[in-house]
Amino acid sequence: MNSKLQIKSVTLADKDLKSGLFQYIMTLADGSRARLFYSNKPEWHLTGVTRLLNVPCPLCMKDYYCGCFEKNAELFDRQVNENDFIPASMRA
Ligand SMILES: [Zn+2]
Repeated sequence: MNSKLQIKSVTLADKDLKSGLFQYIMTLADGSRARLFYSNKPEWHLTGVTRLLNVPCPLCMKDYYCGCFEKNAELFDRQVNENDFIPASMRA
């Protein structure tokens, strides 16, 4: 696993129960932050990730928009699931 993309914590930012859309802020070990978008329709799945521009990208060092986090969406999703960063209480 790319250790630069290690999730430290995830907090719930917004939810819309009617549409089943959830938004989280994830913080990585290096201080990078990003939004994670999940949907529970038809079943729980990651729909997108957007890096917040609080610090330069840990992968390409750009301090503006880049696609690195999007390309690693699967890695983030796996970490969330394996480490239960978004427990059931944060999905409802
Ligand atoms: Zn990048």
